[in-house]
Amino acid sequence: MNDPVASAAGTRLRVCEIFHSIQGEADAVGWPTVFVRLTGCPLRCVWCDTEYSFHGGQWQDIDAILAQVAAYGTRHVCVTGGEPLAQKRCLILLERLCQAGHEVSLETSGALDVSGVDPRVHKVMDLKAPGSGEAARNLWANLEHLRAHDQVKVVIADRADYDWACARLHEHDLAARCTVLFSPVHGKLGARQLAEWMLADRLPVRLQVQMHKQLWGDAPGH
Ligand code: SF4
Repeated sequence: MNDPVASAAGTRLRVCEIFHSIQGEADAVGWPTVFVRLTGCPLRCVWCDTEYSFHGGQWQDIDAILAQVAAYGTRHVCVTGGEPLAQKRCLILLERLCQAGHEVSLETSGALDVSGVDPRVHKVMDLKAPGSGEAARNLWANLEHLRAHDQVKVVIADRADYDWACARLHEHDLAARCTVLFSPVHGKLGARQLAEWMLADRLPVRLQVQMHKQLWGDAPGH
């Protein structure tokens, strides 16, 4: 009776949107992917590009979400937000998606506990730099729950953010834990500038440019 999977029937999540697109970020970049965007986020990063996900959406049974995902016939699934872990039942959705045979990734702010996430899920966890306005929310204990297949992402607005990210990289030996991604704030820091800083400093870090923004700009549903 206490099996979270068995008790999932009738369990609902508030869903902002479910859509089929190209994964624009992290290790699965370029793969056709179904995105499940959950409603709500307790953070307010100044450069947030998904503010439309903070409110609204529809309550949906996890079984109905799984059926919509299955209808696309796509191996890769990304659970995102908002902050998907703000809804506790997200953990059940992640487990059910893994059981259904999907390659599952989770995009999370790094502010909420990730210890309960199914180990098969590839976590893409932010560390919030000062330019986000939310650096005080970083839950550093989360670093102990990262696996080699996970990724840490730092979104960088300016040189001060970059210097902060380099300091955290060394302080927490991040590159030894998992892949580390540095990504420029779209429209604020040029990707070439960030690339030049990374090369000059010989960082063991991957540059990430959001592919979906090159393809579709800021349009929701991509
Ligand atoms: S954590 Fe993500 S969804 Fe929430 S405000 Fe920051 S960028 Fe936006």
